[in-house]
Amino acid sequence: MWDRSKILDYNSKEEINVFQELALQKQIEYLYTNSPFYKNLFDSNNIDYKSIKNIDDLKLLPTSSKEDLEKENNSFLCVSEQKIVEYVTTSGTLGKPIALALTKNDLDRLAYNEKRSLEIVGINDKDTIQITTTLDKMFMAGMAYYMGVISLGATAIRSGIERPDHHWESISRFSPTATIAVPSFLYKLANYGLDNNIKPNNSSLKKAICIGEPIRNADFSPNKLHQKIAEKWDIELFSTYASTEMMTAFTECDAKIGGHHLPELIILEILDEKGRQVADGELGEITVTPLGVEGMPLLRYRTGDMARAHVKECSCGRNTLRLGPVEVRKNQMIKLKGTTLFPQSIEEVLRSFDEVENYVIELSTSTLDTDQIQVYICDTISDDLLKKILFQFSNEIRVSPEIIRIPKKTLLNMLFPEGTRKAKKIMDNRTNTINL
Ligand SMILES: [Zn+2]
Repeated sequence: MWDRSKILDYNSKEEINVFQELALQKQIEYLYTNSPFYKNLFDSNNIDYKSIKNIDDLKLLPTSSKEDLEKENNSFLCVSEQKIVEYVTTSGTLGKPIALALTKNDLDRLAYNEKRSLEIVGINDKDTIQITTTLDKMFMAGMAYYMGVISLGATAIRSGIERPDHHWESISRFSPTATIAVPSFLYKLANYGLDNNIKPNNSSLKKAICIGEPIRNADFSPNKLHQKIAEKWDIELFSTYASTEMMTAFTECDAKIGGHHLPELIILEILDEKGRQVADGELGEITVTPLGVEGMPLLRYRTGDMARAHVKECSCGRNTLRLGPVEVRKNQMIKLKGTTLFPQSIEEVLRSFDEVENYVIELSTSTLDTDQIQVYICDTISDDLLKKILFQFSNEIRVSPEIIRIPKKTLLNMLFPEGTRKAKKIMDNRTNTINL
C-alpha cells in the first residue's frame, strides 16, 4: 500500500496541495465514520464533515490535544480489537502513559515513513545503520526505524540502549555507516571514545540522524549541542522531528535547512493561540493531521512544540515545505534523553514510595542546551531505597533523572520559599519553555 507512487517531493506546490486536499477529505470521512471522539466533535459543534474540503477549511474545526487523548483515550480508537496488531505508549501530562493502537497498515505506514526519512538523508540499501534508541518498552521510535531500515534493504544493528563501550565494540565489529541517536548521547559516546583510546573520526560512522533533541538554532546554524559534538567528532548530523502521536517524521536533507514535509503522510499547520495559521516563517504551534492512519488517527492535533515552517525552495530540488527546529515548548513538557515526559510522571513514581515524604523537581537547561532534571529528596532515604527508586524510574518512564539527597531542612526551604504557604514541588528554570 505504501509505495513510491505517492512521492510528491518534486511535484509542484499546486499538485502537492491538490493531493493533500483529497487525502484530507478521505481522512475526515474516515474519522467521522469510525472515531467516536471526532464524530462527537463534529456533531457537538454542528459541523458537517463534508464541508471540510481544503486545508484552509480546517480552521473551522476545533483542535485536539494530548489532554483529549489522555482523558478519552479509548474513544479515539477507530478499529475493532481484532485489527490491532500492536500497542505503543507515549507520556501523558498527568503521569499515566497514553496508549496508541496500531493496525498492520499503520506499521507499514511507519516503515514507509522511516524509509523516506532515511532516503532524504542520503542513506541507501548499501548502508549499515546502528540504532541506539530503545527498541522495547512499547516505545515507537526504535521499532519504527528498525522497520524503515529493513524496508529500505539496508542493514540494521539493533544496539538499543547500551553502555558506550558496547556501542564502540559493535561499531568496530560491524562497521555501521550511519547511526540513529539522541544527540546528547552521541556527545557522550564521542567523549567515551576519546577517553578510551578510540578515535571517533577514524570510525565507520559518518552520518547521524538526531532524534528527540534539536541540533540547530532558529536560523539553522548549529546550536550548542551540535557544536559540542562537532568539536569531538566529525560526523554529519541530520535533524529529524517526530512524535509517537503524529507517526510521521520531518527530516533534513543535505541542505540542512529544516525537516522536509512528507505530504502523502501528514498535513502540517503552524497555529497561533486562537487556532489560526500564522504567516510563513512565523513562530507558531506545530499542529498535525496525519494521513492514512487507521488505529487512532488524529485531526488538528496540537503538539505543544513551537516552530516555523519554511516555504522557500530548497537546494535539493524538493518542493515540500520544511519545518524549522523546535524553538520553544508550551507548558511543562520535558525532553530527557530523547524521551518526552511531564513532571507529573516523575511525581507519580516518587509518590509510589511512602518513604518519600517530600521532594522538589528542578527542571533546568544543561550546558548542552538540553533539558535536565534534578530530583531532590531527603537524605534519610537509604542507598537501597534509592536504587529501587531509580529502577522504578527506568521501568515506568524509561529514563532516570538525577536524584540528589539533601538534609530535610534544606529540602523544606526549597519547597516553601520565603513567604509561600503552598509547596512549590516543581521548579522550571529552563530557558526554552513558556508556561501558558
Ligand atoms: Zn532539501
